[in-house]
This record gives sequence, C-alpha cells and structure tokens, in this order.
Amino acid sequence: MSSGILVMIDRPARGQAGDGEPFRVVPADQPALRATVLAATRGDGVFETAAIRRGAVQAAAAHLARFARSAAMLDLPEPDPEVYRRAVERGIALLDDASDAAVKYVLTRGDEEDPAAGPLGWAHVHVSEDFTAARRDGISVALLSRGYALDVTETSPWLLQGAKTLSYAVNRAALREAARRGADDVLFTTTDGYLLEGPTSSVVARFGGTLVSTPPEAGVLPGTTQQGMFAYAEGLGLGTQFRDIRVAELVGADALWLTSSVRLAVPVTAVDGVPCRIDGALTAAVNAALMARTD
Ligand code: PLP
Repeated sequence: MSSGILVMIDRPARGQAGDGEPFRVVPADQPALRATVLAATRGDGVFETAAIRRGAVQAAAAHLARFARSAAMLDLPEPDPEVYRRAVERGIALLDDASDAAVKYVLTRGDEEDPAAGPLGWAHVHVSEDFTAARRDGISVALLSRGYALDVTETSPWLLQGAKTLSYAVNRAALREAARRGADDVLFTTTDGYLLEGPTSSVVARFGGTLVSTPPEAGVLPGTTQQGMFAYAEGLGLGTQFRDIRVAELVGADALWLTSSVRLAVPVTAVDGVPCRIDGALTAAVNAALMARTD
C-alpha cells in the first residue's frame, strides 16, 4: 500500500526566519511527529484537503485563503501561502501518479513541551480514493442535530464553527451515528430547524432554476466545490443563492447534493429514509466541469 509523500514544513508561518528550505521530504511510513505536538494532544491546528487532478491542485488559491481564514479564527500565526504552495508542489512532483490525487496540509500551534519552537506544519500528498460510484449512484444521509441554533457564530464564536480545525472527532462520531442508522453520510441541522452542512461537505439544493446553499454566517465552512458548482451553474443560466434553508423545505427540493473537493458533487438519494428527487443530468455535467477545473 502506498503511503503517499510527506513534506514536513519546519517554518510554516509568514516571516519565520531560518536557513535553507522551510520544508523537507521525509519517509511517509516512518514516525514524523513528537507525541507532545498540539495537533495530537489538543487537535489545536487547522488543515485543508484539496484535490489534485492532472498534477495540479484544484482551487489552490481558494484553499490557501480558507486556510489563512481558519488560522486567524484560532489566533494561529498566518501560514505562509508560498511555503505551502511550494511544499505541496514538491510532494506532487514525487508522487508516482498525480493524475487523480489529493493533499492534506496542516498548520499546528507547535509542541506543548517546547512552545518556543513555534508552529509547525506538513503536507501529505496521496492518490485519491475512487468516488465514481458515489457521484453516479448517490448517497443516503441522516439528519443529525449539531446541538446549537443558527446564530451560533454570534452567540458562541469560541466554538469555531466555520473554521477547518483538526478537531474532527465530532464529525467522525456523526458519521458513525449515520452508519448505525443505515445512512451513508450526515446532514447537520440546527436546533431551530435549519440545514448546515455535512461533516466533510457543503450542502447544495436546487429549487426550480436556482441552486441554494447555506451562508457562511451560519457557521459552515465556505466550500470551494460549492463555489465551483455555483460558478458553473451561473454559466448555464441558473440562479444561485446563499440563504438559510429550513429542514421543512427539503421535501420541495428538486435535487440535493453534498459537495467536497475530492468526492465532488454527490447526489443525495434519501434523507432519513425518505427518497429525494435526483437530477442526474445536472450532476454529471457539474462533476465533469468540476473535474476539468484548472484554477
Ligand atoms: N464543510 C466541511 C465541514 C468540510 O470539512 C468540507 C471539506 O472537507 C466542506 C464543507 C467542503 O469544502 P470543499 O468543497 O472546499 O472541500
């Protein structure tokens, strides 16, 4: 089994001085982090996962911008986009096959036993899982409450909703709960009856000729794939809109998707066991366009 290419980033923050390259390639199947790194002990850090197609990162600038936004929300030093861009490029160059791959890159606050050493990061480039079947056949979802109301970003910004933090244990637990309920994935809801996003995806619904997605103000991660889908849809003459979506509106949706960088737009076939309408033609066209993106 290939474990991909691992690039440790010793000086990930803007303005960190030092000699030589700020990153180094290390064996991906060997230990690379100390047990006291805050990424491991507190989940204290941020990350991005981006698709690599035909040897290039898709939506590279949008991912780097979101990475910086997440870091700022956690009061982390600003990641140096040029260092990350070059580190990822180094990883891609060493991958046997970068035609359909992915990268996860990380910034963590550092080591709890050695705070003076400052932040540290890494980028792991690896071949992608094949999501052809999910894109074609769709997935079922379970609605699970996130346990807070739609105004969470105003009432409790310290919950960091909308930041892509390393603390994804809740997202993983939600997926296990979905599996217990016989569903493939999750659509999070608020306590006051609105849709949020999936544990690793944005939600897009079609109502007539308009695609709708949850606004970032609701505490969801601004999705780069959702943005790409909106741009493509606008080119087709469809309307696009960010607005709060009530759970009760789902029965009237003409199609529903979960969107994310690597899996792309997967149609939702059922919500809590209730079948959804599927727009096979638009799904196929959107995924072909997303796959072809070069920006
Ligand atoms: N929302 C959450 C919570 C995510 O983790 C992700 C991606 O992993 C997304 C949305 C979709 O973002 P993108 O389309 O940029 O991959």
